[in-house]
Amino acid sequence: MTDLNNLITQIDAFRDARQWREHHNAKDLALSLSLEAAELLECFQWQTSDAAVNNHLDEIKDELADVFIYAFTLSSTLELDVSGIIQSKMKKNAKKYPAPATALKHKD
Ligand SMILES: [Mg+2]
Repeated sequence: MTDLNNLITQIDAFRDARQWREHHNAKDLALSLSLEAAELLECFQWQTSDAAVNNHLDEIKDELADVFIYAFTLSSTLELDVSGIIQSKMKKNAKKYPAPATALKHKD
């Protein structure tokens, strides 16, 4: 089992121990993911990026973790292979946004 799958299993176990799975439909999980992303944005509101990171790193970490937890919970609910869908999307992104030839050169 990969570290990622192990983590998702832990998140699933946490919600199952609390009998939350019955409340976790795809729509409400997607909504919750967006709300947590908004909470992450709140950490940056009305200040520079550097100031937010310097002054609110603990809150940023917590809110980012909430975003990941809801993303993985939604993936689990929909029985999606997280690594597979990310790799698939990265291939689409590479096609849509090809790297300039200069960026592909190696420095010796
Ligand atoms: Mg939160």
